[in-house]
Amino acid sequence: MAITPFTTHHGMVDILPEDAVKWQFIEQIIRKTARKFHFSEIRTPVMEQTGLIARGVGELTDIVSKEMFAFNRGEDQYVLRPEGTAPVARAFVEHRLDQRGGVQKLFYIGPMFRAERPQKGRQRQFHQFGAELLGSAMPVADAEIIAFMIDIYNQIGIKNITLKVNSVGDPESRKAYKEALTAYFTPYKNKLSEISQVRLKTNPMRILDSKESEDQMLIENAPLISAYLTDESRAHFEQVLRYLDDLGIGYEVTPRLVRGLDYYTKTAFELVSPDLGSQDALGGGGRYDLLIEEIGGPATAAVGFASGIERLIIACDALGIDLGSAPGLDVYIVTRGEPAINWAISKLPELRNAGLSASMDFAGRSIKAQMKEANRESARYAIIVGDTELETGNFTLRDMAKSEENSLPFDQILKKIGQFTR
Ligand code: AMP
Repeated sequence: MAITPFTTHHGMVDILPEDAVKWQFIEQIIRKTARKFHFSEIRTPVMEQTGLIARGVGELTDIVSKEMFAFNRGEDQYVLRPEGTAPVARAFVEHRLDQRGGVQKLFYIGPMFRAERPQKGRQRQFHQFGAELLGSAMPVADAEIIAFMIDIYNQIGIKNITLKVNSVGDPESRKAYKEALTAYFTPYKNKLSEISQVRLKTNPMRILDSKESEDQMLIENAPLISAYLTDESRAHFEQVLRYLDDLGIGYEVTPRLVRGLDYYTKTAFELVSPDLGSQDALGGGGRYDLLIEEIGGPATAAVGFASGIERLIIACDALGIDLGSAPGLDVYIVTRGEPAINWAISKLPELRNAGLSASMDFAGRSIKAQMKEANRESARYAIIVGDTELETGNFTLRDMAKSEENSLPFDQILKKIGQFTR
């Protein structure tokens, strides 16, 4: 019986070699920028305890209530991590990073998992890079995180972006604001979408996030959080904005910006791109001063951001930004007959030790087919070897671009092309 070939799961994508090159380029820029800002990499497991995510991200969020890839094994409840902040916070607590003195500046790059409905820019396995600055309540830390995020986009060449910022306040501000929103929306309860009616009971701030058309008019006239911020929250927000001004980072204060994760306090921000279509958020983040305590650690103020790599690549493609292509091969050894293969096997290490990329035929193909492959691999040189060459000790070196051939001993070939580095 014929086997139906297997495919990836819906919303999970293979990154093929021609695309992996782009990923490497982006990851390299992220790492280079992290070095400049002096953030150190942290790598956490892709699976966490379900309880951590439920508590950290929030039971009522879409991520926890609808989108978790979670399963049990024996007594243990596993979840594929849907985001990076709760895991980093867990590692911070588990390894007592607070005791290392000063602040912790950490960054990560890795796959995240959410069982969302896949569409362009929205996958079930996607990749984020992000950073967390733990142990600082100062507005300058918020500015540092935003500057780090923006610098990565600038390095890549994405200029056409909008930073939306808001303050979602401290618990006191939020309590007052939630009451005001409840009082405002309740008389219109029946006009709200079904999901917003639920949120009116559970978390009225999330109504502001609604995409449902029937909610929009009501949202437009809803009270703004700015009127409910405590003096401290307001002062913090204004200071963050002043630092952004000093850094020359443009922003739009967006009073209705709330984010899908529960742990944010005070500063919340989102980076959007007009080149992305309906999923227009490149990244986002904010302050989460209560999260570490919420998951059982010492009171620790912190701020962070997370950005999606897939959406970054979509934006680059839309803008025609070249993220690089696979580097061509330096040398391809074309072999005819078994003795030539033996020769090639012994010479490949010498070429490679000279810093060249070198390959040969692994499929027993004709000379013609091997030359074709050398071309396809954009080889700069081909060395052609058969019985005659082995007898005379002179090998044909072909410059593929110039179609020039020379007959030379191997040491001279090495000398000639070994100087060449791509
Ligand atoms: P969040 O953790 O929800 O704040 O998301 C931060 C960023 O991660 C977003 O702005 C997107 O760029 C990216 N992202 C979030 N969810 C997905 C997804 N399902 N597919 C692709 N990218 C995503």
